[in-house]
Order: sequence, then structure tokens, then C-alpha cells
Amino acid sequence: MTAPILPGATLGVLGGGQLGRMFAHAAQQLGYRTAVLDADASSPAGLVSHLHVQTGYLDAGGLARMADACAAITTEFENVPADALRTLAARVPTAPAGDAVAVCQDRAAEKALIERCGVPCAPHALIETEAQLAAVADSLLPGILKTARMGYDGKGQVRVRDRAALVAAWTELGRVPCVLEQMLALDFEISLVIARDAQGASVALPIQRNLHRDGILAVTEVPAPGVDAALAERAHDAARRIADGLGYVGVLCVELFVLKDGSLVANEMAPRPHNSGHHSIDSCDVSQFDLQVRCMAGLPLVAPRLHSAALMLNLLGDLWFDPAGREREPDWAAVLALPGAHLHLYGKTEARRGRKMGHLTLTASSPEGARLQVDRAAAILGLPGL
Ligand code: ATP
Ligand code: MG
Repeated sequence: MTAPILPGATLGVLGGGQLGRMFAHAAQQLGYRTAVLDADASSPAGLVSHLHVQTGYLDAGGLARMADACAAITTEFENVPADALRTLAARVPTAPAGDAVAVCQDRAAEKALIERCGVPCAPHALIETEAQLAAVADSLLPGILKTARMGYDGKGQVRVRDRAALVAAWTELGRVPCVLEQMLALDFEISLVIARDAQGASVALPIQRNLHRDGILAVTEVPAPGVDAALAERAHDAARRIADGLGYVGVLCVELFVLKDGSLVANEMAPRPHNSGHHSIDSCDVSQFDLQVRCMAGLPLVAPRLHSAALMLNLLGDLWFDPAGREREPDWAAVLALPGAHLHLYGKTEARRGRKMGHLTLTASSPEGARLQVDRAAAILGLPGL
């Protein structure tokens, strides 16, 4: 066992988005300095860090500056090239490892790993050639065609009803390597954030229930309604198997579908904290970002305790426009008048529709209390209710 990296050292993160910003906040609370690699001069994490290296992820000079400055390095953005982590690993500990990130970046490799771990995933086929397109089994239709790489927030996905639609969709996606998944009858969606240390011990956040709108996460609720102890144990078991199978060190989020027939299917993994785990900052005594810091620094992992029921609402750029399309600022004062409201804005300068600008977590002593506050917050913000 190597000695932990103690506060005062600099911890680095590849990617300067909101996840990096919340990582930096958690690291700084413990007394670490933070360094961020992101080409964008006004990136949310760069704005709050001690060092901001403004180069591309594969820039040799930028990576060398990060390795010089940091005692350990993590990542916050799924599409940071795995090779950036592999290059850094020659000089400085990285968590997660580039190889684990590479698996999560490729839907085909990801599904193969999930199956190897004995966890069910959606029936699917890889489509890289005309021949594979023509050979798709009828049972996979209707389905969802997803690009194998670089998808997020429902981008790079097309729902296809039949073969003609499938052919058109593959052309629409630029005939890049894709995975066609059978359209499953979802009852609801859950996710689980697990943190695993170098000795293979793991802890997890409570199971989260997620609601998506237009392919983007809209609402997360904990404790997750409809998840009994047996289902929770199956989800924990699936996440542990996947983390073990990857030999993972760090924070990993596993997205799961609960099907109408009660079965559980793994959808995908994110090799980092996840939007659905943001509630943990305000609802748990250890957040997913605290866990990320502890994993990379080799500090003890303790099981997070949920001390409040919580609902998280994503705040997309759409809220910054009135019905006539004019820019406006949401009524934060009214939102903050709600007991248990925790507002997180990411410091992004430009609001765009569909862009994640912040999130709002509402905590209460009971799930009913949190739901009541969410309805009030949604009414103030002009969001649909639950
Ligand atoms: P994100 O970045 O938000 O996680 P993504 O672009 O990586 O999204 P997925 O998570 O694969 O995409 O899919 C987005 C959503 O589409 C899922 O949360 C689910 O609601 C729906 N979906 C995806 N695959 C299936 C499927 N096989 N059957 C039914 N619904 C699905
Ligand atoms: Mg997803």
C-alpha cells in the first residue's frame, strides 16, 4: 500500500466542466490545490482552480505541465482521450486508469465488458459495415441506433422502427461505427455511483431514480421510489461486478434500466462522478466528489450516509429565455426562499438551449417534503412538475 497523498498537494483534473468544478470544490475543502487541463479560458473548473493549463487534452506540453504540477490526476469528462491518461500515468498516478476509461468510451467494448461481468445488458448488434447492417436480427427492431463513440445527453442516437429507418439512421449518423440496441420496455431508470479503491474495496451512494426529458437527465430522486431492498441489492451487485471487472480505481456511475417485467439491465457506465449523483453534495455526508478525491489521493473510503431525502432538478439553458425567446435571468431569489433549496450554478457565461447551466437540489426530512418543494421550485422556474 502506498502512502496517501495528503492535503496541501495539488490534485489535477482533465476537463474543466461542471464536474471538474465540483471536484475542485471538494478537493479544496480538504485543503488540496487543484489544477485543470481545458483549452477553454472560461471553463467552469478552470475559473476556480489554482492552475489552469489551457491546451488540448493531447498537447504534450500541456500534459507535461499537469504532470509537473500534480500529485495525482483524474478526469471529469467522458470524452477526454484515454491516451491523455495513459501518457500521464507514466509520470503520475491517475484514477481512473486510461484503459478503464477507454472501455466506457466505446459502447461496443462497454457492452462486452458488462456481459463478461455476468450483468445483463440490452440485446444489441455492432454495425460497422453494410454487411452487418443487412444482417441485423429482426428481434432488435424497433431499436435505438447509437454511435459507438462520443455520444452524450442523447446526442448521436436515433430511434428506428424498422429496417428502412435503420438504414436511413446509419446514413444520418455518418455511417460511423454504431450499436443497435433493442428498444426495451422500461418501467423506470436508476443509477448507482460506486467508488473503488486500489485494494478493491468499494462504497456506494444510495440508488438514484432518474427521469430524462428529450434524452437529457431532468430529475433525480433519492431514496429511489419503487426500489425495494432486493432490487437495490441486485443493482449494487451489478455495479460491484462491473467495477471489479474493470479493475477500476475511482468513481464510476452505472446507469441501469428496470424493465416492466421487473428485470434489471445495465445501460452504460460513466468513468467519473455523474449528473445523477449531484444530489449527494447536499443529501449525503460524503459526496461523489469527496469520493473522487479520496480515491485518487488513496484516502480511506467511508460509506456515504443519506441524511436527507432529495430531488435534483437540472437547470438547462432554456430557463434563461422567456416564451418570446428573449434572454432573462431565472428568479433565483424566489427559488432560494424555499427551505432546503441548494442552488448550484456552474459559472457558464453563455446560456444555450439544452446546455447544463446548473442544478437545484431540494432536501427535506421526508420524500414527501422534498416533492412538495420540487413542485414549488418547478412552478417558479416554469419547469414541468414531477
Ligand atoms: P447520457 O449522456 O444522458 O447518459 P447517452 O447519450 O449516453 O445519455 P443513453 O444513456 O444510452 O445515451 O440513452 C439515453 C436515454 O435513452 C436513456 O436514459 C433511456 O431513457 C433511453 N434509452 C437508451 N437506450 C434504450 C433502450 N435500449 N431501450 C429503451 N430506452 C433506451
Ligand atoms: Mg446515459
